[in-house]
Amino acid sequence: MALGSNQRHPRHGSPSAILRAALDEVRRRNCRIDVVSPTVRSRPIGPSQRVYCNSAALVSTDLEPRALLEELQAVETLFGRRRQGQRWRSRTLDLDIILWSGGWWGDHSLVIPHPEFRNRDFVLGPAARIAGHWRDPLSGLTVRQLHYRLAKGLTRSPPPPR
Ligand code: ADP
Ligand code: MG
Repeated sequence: MALGSNQRHPRHGSPSAILRAALDEVRRRNCRIDVVSPTVRSRPIGPSQRVYCNSAALVSTDLEPRALLEELQAVETLFGRRRQGQRWRSRTLDLDIILWSGGWWGDHSLVIPHPEFRNRDFVLGPAARIAGHWRDPLSGLTVRQLHYRLAKGLTRSPPPPR
C-alpha cells in the first residue's frame, strides 16, 4: 500500500502525522501492518502547491482486494478527502493498493498493480525500502529494478500525443 498526504489536518496536524494516524485506522480494519517505510517528501504534481509526504506499508489481510479498497477509501474519507473535482487536487490523504501477493486484479474500480506506480518515484522509493524484491507481474521486474530504471530515466512513459 502507498500512502500520501499534502495537507495539514485540523486534529492530526502535519502530513507525516496524518500518515501515522492513517496507519492506525487501517490497522483497525482487519489489516495487519507488517512493515512501514521511511517517509519521503516530494514536490507536488499538477496544480496543488504543497509538498507531498509519501510512504509505503506492507499490509497483511484476509480482505479481498475490493473490500480492502473500500476500507482504504473509508479511511481517506475519515480524513476529509473529497472525491469530487479535479483529479490532482491537493488532498489530505491518498491510500493506494500498489501490488498484491495474489498477482493481478482488474475491474472498473480497481487495478492492481496500480497503473501509475512504475512512473512514480514517490511510490517506488518507499516501496523499494520495504518490498524491493516484490515483482511486478506485468513487467516481470522487481520494485528495486523499477525504481532504479525510473531514477535512470529509462522507463518513464512518453507524454500522451496532443
Ligand atoms: P491516484 O491514487 O492515482 O492519485 P486517485 O486516488 O484520485 O488517484 O484515484 C481514485 C480512483 O482510483 C479510486 O476511486 C479507485 O477506484 C481507483 N483505483 C484503481 N486502482 C486503484 C488502486 N490499485 N488503488 C487505489 N485506487 C485505485
Ligand atoms: Mg488513490
